[in-house]
Amino acid sequence: MSETIFGKIIAGEIPSEFIYEDEHCIAINDIAPQAPVHVLVIPKKGIPRLIDAEGADQALLGHLLLAAGKVAEQLGVQDAFRLLINNGEGAGQTVFHLHLHIIAGREFAEGQM
Ligand code: 5GP
Repeated sequence: MSETIFGKIIAGEIPSEFIYEDEHCIAINDIAPQAPVHVLVIPKKGIPRLIDAEGADQALLGHLLLAAGKVAEQLGVQDAFRLLINNGEGAGQTVFHLHLHIIAGREFAEGQM
């Protein structure tokens, strides 16, 4: 388990509502949402950044994508959501425990990130 805020949330040391949980990951609402739907899918295994994932994490990475799809369906945004991973400080990563952002509920202009 990582010593980040997400590691503490997963360990139950910091109370947080899990909107989804399975054997390998949880999903929580972002504390500072950037869109009407802004959810974080977080693996229970504390990999600091995507680039730190290894071959042995291949199934876990696939699992996170499938879990993100399930959460999007659960929230009713399966037809219009974005998935984002910030890798490294230079890309805006602030919590060094891999996580996927699910962003939805706002307009997505074509060609715009
Ligand atoms: P990053 O910038 O690392 O990709 O994303 C970290 C995200 O975690 C940010 O969007 C931030 O708002 C969110 N966050 C940071 N601390 C907490 C927390 O304690 N609880 C929740 N639910 N989200 C958090």
